[in-house]
Amino acid sequence: MGDKTVTQGKEKPKHFQRLMEYAGSRRALTYASLALSAVSSLIALVSFVCLWIIIDGVIVARGDQGAIEGLTTWAWWALATAAAALLIYTAGLMCSHLSAFRVARSLRSALMRHIATLPLGVIESRGSGSLRKVVDESSAATETYLAHRLPDKAAAVVTPIGLLALMLVFDWRLGLLSLVPVALSFALMMLAMVGPGFKEKMSQYNDALQSMSNEAVEYVRGMPVIKTFGQTVFGFKRFKNAIDHYGAWALAYTKDLRTPMTLYTTIVNGVFACLIAGALWFGQGGTDQVFLTNLIFYVIITPVIAVTMNKVMFASEDGMIVEDALARIDGILDLQPLPQATAGLIPEDSSINLSNVSFRYSAEAPNAVEQVSLHVPATTTMALVGPSGSGKSTIAALVSRMWDVDKGSVEIGGIDIRDIEEDRLMDQVSVVFQDSKLLKASIADNVRLGRPGASDEEVLSALHDARCDDILQKLPQGMHTQVGSKGVYLSGGEQQRLALARAFVKDAPILVLDEATAFADPDNETLMMQALERLSKGRTVLKIAHRLSTVTSADCIAVLQEGRIVQQGTHDQLLQQDDSLYATMWSHYLTSAAWTVSREAM
Ligand code: ADP
Repeated sequence: MGDKTVTQGKEKPKHFQRLMEYAGSRRALTYASLALSAVSSLIALVSFVCLWIIIDGVIVARGDQGAIEGLTTWAWWALATAAAALLIYTAGLMCSHLSAFRVARSLRSALMRHIATLPLGVIESRGSGSLRKVVDESSAATETYLAHRLPDKAAAVVTPIGLLALMLVFDWRLGLLSLVPVALSFALMMLAMVGPGFKEKMSQYNDALQSMSNEAVEYVRGMPVIKTFGQTVFGFKRFKNAIDHYGAWALAYTKDLRTPMTLYTTIVNGVFACLIAGALWFGQGGTDQVFLTNLIFYVIITPVIAVTMNKVMFASEDGMIVEDALARIDGILDLQPLPQATAGLIPEDSSINLSNVSFRYSAEAPNAVEQVSLHVPATTTMALVGPSGSGKSTIAALVSRMWDVDKGSVEIGGIDIRDIEEDRLMDQVSVVFQDSKLLKASIADNVRLGRPGASDEEVLSALHDARCDDILQKLPQGMHTQVGSKGVYLSGGEQQRLALARAFVKDAPILVLDEATAFADPDNETLMMQALERLSKGRTVLKIAHRLSTVTSADCIAVLQEGRIVQQGTHDQLLQQDDSLYATMWSHYLTSAAWTVSREAM
């Protein structure tokens, strides 16, 4: 696998031991549940013995009403043992659930704790949706396995042994006869299911399922864009491909299992034919009443074996599901956090310096930035421009240490950022993303994320500096209004300004800014520009400029192409370089600006 943040080659214990590590003090409950489940299935067999006695009694009685009534006690015993078996099984399930809940909870919190230590870049590129899926669904899979499947497996192992003993004790010839088809069909099914290909297939099944649900989410999320551009068929294509892939997989899988499954069902149900043939054969020399009792008994009890065998089969399938879930969980737990700074050095000022920085996202990918050197003196503004995919966001991500560089170094105030403690680095840098996310909390709390100790006055002043007064005025409870509650709608531009308020309240000396690509309305744009201008004052700013109109005032502009810096200087200096990438971009910008103006004039 090409992910460079993954640790390789650690030997993992088997899945049951792994799960038990997470059960902590409730580990004993899992063992208790296995024991109770096994005991319950043995007691359940006692009801069958009572049944045998009743059948025998009825045959012996030959219609004698008194003798038949004498059998009632055995019927009560049968009922009592069945009830006891049920009660013990329920107690076992309670134990298994208590332990399973603990395991799922510990797994979830281990995952969440680990995710919190991961570089932001890893979280961004994995996609929070896919991480959530693993946290939720894979830990839920372990819960089902421990709570239900494992106790069932214990019962499924003990029952056939008990049954075998019973069957052989009553009439070993009939016993063997009824066991042969069951053993045969079971062996057949195990061959089909436990083969090396099957485990791989389970994993493929889960991949196909995951890809289908990812595409479904993407499809729904992209619906507004798809509809706006009238591209329904195109947008549906990837989703449909995922469904088709899943469908094709399921069909191939079903076809693979068709023959063994048909044989299995036929043979298991053919047990009666076997018994009848056996009865005719063994009964040739005349039958006694015990033989008859045994025959009836075997006819009743044999289906129980088939049901038990089914349980064993599905328990092994669940073992594979839980193994796959654990592999997915390990896929996250094996991701390495960024090494913590031990030197704990303190930056001298807010300058940013990149020396010969190269970085790639995975071992197979080409360098996203290559040999980049850049100096941003304290309190100046550097704008990064260049075509999409040229490496602008990557540079911004490296400066805020969302990833560590592969070669070269990133320094803040003369100190390599790998030598600055994480908290101190975060105090130095505010990052404003293009699609800043607001949490479902009050506006004040959202702003306070910038500095948790900020007072109401400080939050209000930050909101004012970020030109958010109009937003507060229109909301019923001002800055205490809950974002995301009914009736509170904030436009993209308004959300951006709230994100700027966050940066104001944080008051970090360095600002890394991914400028918004477009504004729906000019009013918002004007307010945003004013807020940004104010925020940039006295700070070192590294901004990804998507629109050239906003770069002319920057102290320096770095032009990127395919991960390298191809030009660097002020707007005027860059324009003077004829036929350069910047000159071309600028003339395109002027043409599109003129086009916009003339369209507006129309
Ligand atoms: P820009 O911001 O200029 O559009 P980026 O820095 O986003 O460019 O991308 C630079 C290169 O790195 C591109 O080839 C892009 O496909 C790749 N890239 C960006 N982000 C990731 C990621 N999270 N995982 C893998 N590749 C990425």
